[in-house]
Amino acid sequence: MHVNTAVLLQLAYGEYAVGAFSVNSIEQILGAMRGATEAAAPLIIQVSHQARRYAMPGVLEAAVHAAARHFPELVFALHLDHGDEAACYEGIDSGLYGSVMIDASAQPLAENIAITRRVVERAHARGVAVEAELGRLGGKEDDLVVAEDAAWLTDPDAAAEFVARSGCDALAVAVGTRHGIHKFAASGQLDLERLAAIRARLPGVPLVLHGASSVPAAEVARINAAGGAVAADAHGVPEALYPELARRGVAKINIDTDGRLVWARVLREYLRDHPATLDLREPGRVFMAAYAERVAQLCRCFGAAGRLAEVRRRLGV
Ligand SMILES: [Zn+2]
Repeated sequence: MHVNTAVLLQLAYGEYAVGAFSVNSIEQILGAMRGATEAAAPLIIQVSHQARRYAMPGVLEAAVHAAARHFPELVFALHLDHGDEAACYEGIDSGLYGSVMIDASAQPLAENIAITRRVVERAHARGVAVEAELGRLGGKEDDLVVAEDAAWLTDPDAAAEFVARSGCDALAVAVGTRHGIHKFAASGQLDLERLAAIRARLPGVPLVLHGASSVPAAEVARINAAGGAVAADAHGVPEALYPELARRGVAKINIDTDGRLVWARVLREYLRDHPATLDLREPGRVFMAAYAERVAQLCRCFGAAGRLAEVRRRLGV
């Protein structure tokens, strides 16, 4: 069942976080839905601007809703990740999204507020939730590249003003993570005190953590053992820290890199071990099973596993 994202985040707030998994293919869509179902967890599936360009607009969205019919127990939301104003309006008007993210974080505060406010008005009129961003994550995610000297952390006072004036439903905050394979700058770490200060000024407002994959060292090692060239010192958010983030108001955790790592590991190992294969479906099946397992594991780390019955009961479905 597809729902408004804000509903899922409000149910999770302060207790656990809902995993938001980036998808580019039907294998990722089916794997994520299998994983969330196995973990009995609510799910957010997100599609980025580049994913929509890759698969052609409308294709992934249709596949998500078609796939969901095979998972009748699932409660999920489809989210548009890092949209500009035009992309958000397209997503809102399509009727296929439970939320959109307007990313005007490169703009000055007043302009970010004004743009977000316009998107919120249009979205709320259609029953769609809005995530906005204040602060800028460094690193690289597809065509979104932010140099370290252009990255800055979220100011708690500005965050309170931003949410009050923009009316957004959830706020993506910059508290030390980065997009890409290296989740932290050279000496950086998660700024938990800043997160606590933001939560204190925004009680009840779900926070979102981008660049939040855990980047398991074992996964990187397997990729490299199968001929890959991923930086061996790549690392992400320690899995043990996820529950602490949830207690500090992070209700949505974005996962893209960890999914890419599963894909690279499965493909490299499968093609190495089956040099005669020409069938996309063979490694595809292995990938879906491996990705489902990873999604279920992350849902357990986020505290979201086993919550599905409670979510359905509280939504009355
Ligand atoms: Zn992001």
